[in-house]
Formats: sequence, structure tokens, C-alpha cells
Amino acid sequence: SAAQSALERLIVDVPDYPQAGVVFKDITPLLADHDGFTAVVEGLAGAGRGTDGATVVDKVVGMEARGFILAAPVALALGAGFVPVRKAGKLPRETHAVSYSLEYGEATLELHRDAVQPGDRVLLVDDVLATGGTVAATRELVERCGGTVVGVAVLMELSFLPGRDAVGDVPLTSLLTI
Ligand code: 5GP
Repeated sequence: SAAQSALERLIVDVPDYPQAGVVFKDITPLLADHDGFTAVVEGLAGAGRGTDGATVVDKVVGMEARGFILAAPVALALGAGFVPVRKAGKLPRETHAVSYSLEYGEATLELHRDAVQPGDRVLLVDDVLATGGTVAATRELVERCGGTVVGVAVLMELSFLPGRDAVGDVPLTSLLTI
């Protein structure tokens, strides 16, 4: 659609970043464009609303670091809480931790144990779905707290990687498929 190509024009391909052979999708020009950023936040927030437009989630979880930038305004738009999932060692109180493999490298993600309450309905928000490892690890963290992931919303899905499979049976909203 016209809206999608407008967004795509604001995302810059960076070859061989952060390592040779990877084409990194740089979303910072999109964030710097008010209309583009607004459209993205509204599009992602739609994943947290029912058919009647009412919010159906209690928490919006964003993954460090670009997920924070998108998940926080989505949480405000939905009237839900914002919860950060962070890389190892960054959260100050008791956490759950899950290790997983990245498109490039290994990582551990953490979530404060009390950030998601048993029974909470949770929307996961990130910029890019690549292998799906980040989403799968975050889902595990939310479930360890007793929460339920009811949706995953990403700005961009890299369809040449198996990210969609890693998301499993949770509805996936992606504003752009590359
Ligand atoms: P996955 O775990 O699905 O393999 O990778 C997704 C995570 O890596 C996301 O948190 C995302 O921010 C980051 N990521 C991987 N590739 C890219 C990329 O090309 N551009 C951006 N902006 N982030 C990426």
C-alpha cells in the first residue's frame, strides 16, 4: 500500500552492519519523521485492541533497546502499562532470565519478576522480527511470571528468516514484510 511504501522509504539498509553479510535495517530516519512515527505507533497499538476498538491487554512489553522506543508510546495509546525486557545485568531487582541465540551472537534477556502479574494479558512490541529468538525468549519470560502473551507486534518482519515460526500460535502483526 501507499502507507507501507512511505514507511519503507524511511528505513535505511546498512550493508555489513553489525557484521559482514548482514544488511541492517536502520529505523532511526522513520523515528525522526513525525507522521511516520505516529503511523507506526497507531499500527502497532491496533494489535492490542479488540474488534470494538477496546484495549484487550494489561501490559505492553518492549525489548531492549529499539523495542522500548516503540512499546512505550504503544502502551500509552492503549492505556496499558509499559514493561521493559532488558539485557543481562541491567534490571536492579529480582528477575527471571532466559538465554537464546541471535541472528548474530548469543544473549540473555531478563524481566523483573513482579513486572507482569499472574493473569496479565501481554502484547510484545519490537522493531524487527528476524529469527524470532528475541520474541520466543520474551514470551518465556512473560509466562514464567504467569502472564499470557496475546499478541506480538513488530514494525518489520524479515520473511527470509523463520521468525514467524518461532512466534508460534500467538497472533503476529507486522506493519512491513521484507
Ligand atoms: P531475532 O531475535 O528475531 O533474530 O532478532 C530480532 C532482534 O534483533 C530485535 O530486537 C531487533 O531489534 C534486532 N535486529 C535484528 N536485525 C535487525 C535489523 O536489521 N534492524 C534492526 N533495527 N534491528 C534488528
